[in-house]
Amino acid sequence: MIELKSPAEIEMIRAAGRVVATVHAEVKAHAVAGVTLRELDEVARKVIDSAGAGSSFLGYHPRFGATPFPGVICTSVNEVMLHGLPTDYRLRDGDLLSVDCGAYVDGWHADAAVSFVVGEPKPEDLALIEATERCLAAGIEAARPGARMGDIAHAMSTVGRAAGYGMQNDFGGHGIGRAMHEEPFVPNEGVPGRGLKLTPGLVIAIEPSLMAGGRDDYRMADDGWSLCTTDSSRSAHVEHTVAITDDGPRILTVQ
Ligand code: MG
Ligand code: MG
Repeated sequence: MIELKSPAEIEMIRAAGRVVATVHAEVKAHAVAGVTLRELDEVARKVIDSAGAGSSFLGYHPRFGATPFPGVICTSVNEVMLHGLPTDYRLRDGDLLSVDCGAYVDGWHADAAVSFVVGEPKPEDLALIEATERCLAAGIEAARPGARMGDIAHAMSTVGRAAGYGMQNDFGGHGIGRAMHEEPFVPNEGVPGRGLKLTPGLVIAIEPSLMAGGRDDYRMADDGWSLCTTDSSRSAHVEHTVAITDDGPRILTVQ
């Protein structure tokens, strides 16, 4: 069932979105060579705690995960595309890090992800991240009343495919509100003019991921959580929680 949100409920998600955006700013500021992923998770926990919010990720145990999720952020490094665990891995100069965070305030969830390079970036990594951000921007731009879910998906895949990157459609976006993962599914690739008609009050997380090697397949790592490229090429993932309003798309996961 798809639950439309009232303007007051959208403001509740917006409050959670501010916390998520603050987590991203703080984690990025601390993500330097030598710092461990676990230490970044600690930074995120402090932000969530001090805001009086809760973590949407901690203890989350979907069917595809081997264990309850042990952290409050996903930290996906280099060839890890999604769901990287915040381990004792120590960041190195030039690592491509994607950070995904979900938080709730008074029972309302928001979810967002960013990708960036630690230290000195390589041009090809910046190009991959920039293309992933353009995918997301195109998807958000298409998230308007009267449009269809396929329009969002097609806008994203058009950008990703034109840039020659690989994409997967198993792990995409989702409705969000009282739970982190609600209906509807928001695919990364689709047919324009098809799928759910978008109406004001629909709140969705839009989250494209791109794989530099151009392949569309991926594999599960031995840890039972991390989804990795099969060719060990790098991957980037970005996400915003977006409300569809009468005035168009409204991004809720910004400060
Ligand atoms: Mg997320
Ligand atoms: Mg999400």
